[in-house]
Amino acid sequence: MLFRQLFDRASCTYTYLLACERTSQAVLIDPVVSCVERDARLLSELGLALRWVLETHVHADHVTGSAALRARLGGESVVAANAGVFGASCTVRTGDHVVFGDHHLEVRETPGHTAGCVSYVLDDHSAVFTGDALFVRGCGRTDFQGGSAQTLYRSVHAQLFTLPDATKVYPGHDYNGQTVSTIGEERAHNPRLGGGRDEMAFVAIMAALDLSPPAHIDVALPANLRGGTT
Ligand code: FE
Repeated sequence: MLFRQLFDRASCTYTYLLACERTSQAVLIDPVVSCVERDARLLSELGLALRWVLETHVHADHVTGSAALRARLGGESVVAANAGVFGASCTVRTGDHVVFGDHHLEVRETPGHTAGCVSYVLDDHSAVFTGDALFVRGCGRTDFQGGSAQTLYRSVHAQLFTLPDATKVYPGHDYNGQTVSTIGEERAHNPRLGGGRDEMAFVAIMAALDLSPPAHIDVALPANLRGGTT
């Protein structure tokens, strides 16, 4: 399987490209509209056909590249059934499989950062794409878009920390220069969710964060609820 981790410096967002090398069918997870040229060129250079554009959730900090990429390259959009996005080609729930050639991603609902977050687990459990449910040594905020610290704690413990220790964790963002972790590492060392911290401790940590709203939320949220169309 072909795999690339791409980064948007403006929003510190990771976009992931996965592709079946036999069939050339490709998946993009969480593309960013300002990086559409880069992503389209890469797919073209590698001779890949865009099959699916997956969102882990409705983003508040950047506009999705989904609509712009699909307008150029074809493919279909995938979002969580309860994300509230208008006009997605395909909505998914826990247990659904997103198939690309000889591979697939298994959907696991991991709400808490928003009410409609999902993670995508690679078929052989070698990797999970966690969006903003779980970062390397952190997690997404839980103070808007139907977020709930209690819900996020339960999602991470039930849906992510039950994966094998060796499963690689590919987050939706990183602000500290880290690119990847593992489930075993995060269960042991995540300073919010790991190290045996209980739900009450996590809720207290999240309540004390006192974050300002993302800079582009007023533009990003309405655009992303329309699937990235303007
Ligand atoms: Fe987010």
